[in-house]
Amino acid sequence: MAYIQFLGAAGTVTGSKHLINTGAADDSSGTAGFQVLVDCGMFQGQKEWRERNWQDVPIPADKVDAVILTHAHLDHCGWIPRLVKQGFRGPIYATPATIDLCAIVLPDSGHLQEEDADFYNRHQKSKHHPALPLYTLAEAEACLQSFKPVAFEQTIQLSPELSFRFVRAAHILGSSMAEITLTTNRQGKRLLFTGDIGRVRNQNIAPGKVVHSGPNEGEIADLVVMESTYGNRTHPTDDPRPKLAEAIRETVERGGSVIVPAFAIERTQKFVFMLKELMELGQIPRIPIYCDSPMAIKAVQVFLKHTEEYSEATKRLISQYGSPLTWPNVTFASTSQESKKINDSRFPCVIISSSGMATGGRILHHLAQRLPDPRNLVLFIGFQAPGTRGFIIKSGAPEVKIFGEMIPIRAQIAVFEQFSDHADTPELLHWLHTFPQKPAVTYLVHGEPAAASQLRDAMTKDLGWNVQVAQWLQKVNVQ
Ligand SMILES: [Zn+2]
Repeated sequence: MAYIQFLGAAGTVTGSKHLINTGAADDSSGTAGFQVLVDCGMFQGQKEWRERNWQDVPIPADKVDAVILTHAHLDHCGWIPRLVKQGFRGPIYATPATIDLCAIVLPDSGHLQEEDADFYNRHQKSKHHPALPLYTLAEAEACLQSFKPVAFEQTIQLSPELSFRFVRAAHILGSSMAEITLTTNRQGKRLLFTGDIGRVRNQNIAPGKVVHSGPNEGEIADLVVMESTYGNRTHPTDDPRPKLAEAIRETVERGGSVIVPAFAIERTQKFVFMLKELMELGQIPRIPIYCDSPMAIKAVQVFLKHTEEYSEATKRLISQYGSPLTWPNVTFASTSQESKKINDSRFPCVIISSSGMATGGRILHHLAQRLPDPRNLVLFIGFQAPGTRGFIIKSGAPEVKIFGEMIPIRAQIAVFEQFSDHADTPELLHWLHTFPQKPAVTYLVHGEPAAASQLRDAMTKDLGWNVQVAQWLQKVNVQ
């Protein structure tokens, strides 16, 4: 009997990794049946979670036959190089845009881990001697050869009993849900892994939506594994742009700069286009914008390449303003030399840098330098997982630890949740109502415990579905 085992994103929003084993439920050798991982993400945030990145998968990595990847966020793809390092040799299936994004984010992740290990070794700040990277830049680059592009709605037969296809999730560029068909004893079962679910089609309540709007509707499934990030939240429904413009104007007037932790791909481009439009409309001054990321230029190129993914609003912005690489007041800092120059800038500017939850990357230098100055503004435009520096700063803490030092937080902090790429509870329920029939069971993953259990209750009440909150390492039979 086939089973699913939740290896990550159970009880937390990171480390998405779900094993499907088509063989016997008590098989831990991985030799019975076909083994597939749906997503292979990295744990981020609190140490308790990050330490799980060092644990192996419960079956030998070389017995995993394939990976099906929903999208290119690190909490879904960031553990792939580690799986390969542990012996995985199979194909990794993803959409073409996801593959292009992984070619940027995975080597960057390897580079960051090498840098971190280096830093801890130089400063003797780790209990582990020597501190090691989870994987290196070279190892991350090497695994890119195993990626296989799969177009949306193209069916791929992986084994006699297992096939899958991708449908749109409308979360980020290239993002998909995986519909998996399992055929055992001549009985077909449809499993739907939602990955992360994007927002509704209404541009006014989710302005700047880059990708194809709205997740695929009318899904049919016997078993659903579904995200629950915003399972207990409702996004604000007002247009964030007037308040955003006001906050930036006030910062510039007092001589401060605006620091924006943001994922380098898509979120950064979306925000840069929004700033451009606010400048063109005269709502904010034409101050310099720095996109500080080693991936910055490549990210824009990937973004501009995948026209098939755009929403109407994105098409309009690109045809009106062209490529951000040609805009006079926007600088893309790829090298660390260029990055350091931004630190010297004493005039008001906007600095957009990753990582989006301030867990690593160049944003840390900018935060360490600019958080103590009350003239500055730190702007959060993305989800901050508990335990991350982003969450600590956003929660009003007086100080935060960066590079082993406590940095006082005196800058103004502002949070805009309208830019989220995750559907909120009403949007999730709206989408679930498009299912023509009830799945036998739905497992909720990718949510903090409170979010997952509140979404379970809302789904039970609103839809009458059988919903359970997935537990870490729990095995569930596919019947
Ligand atoms: Zn995501």
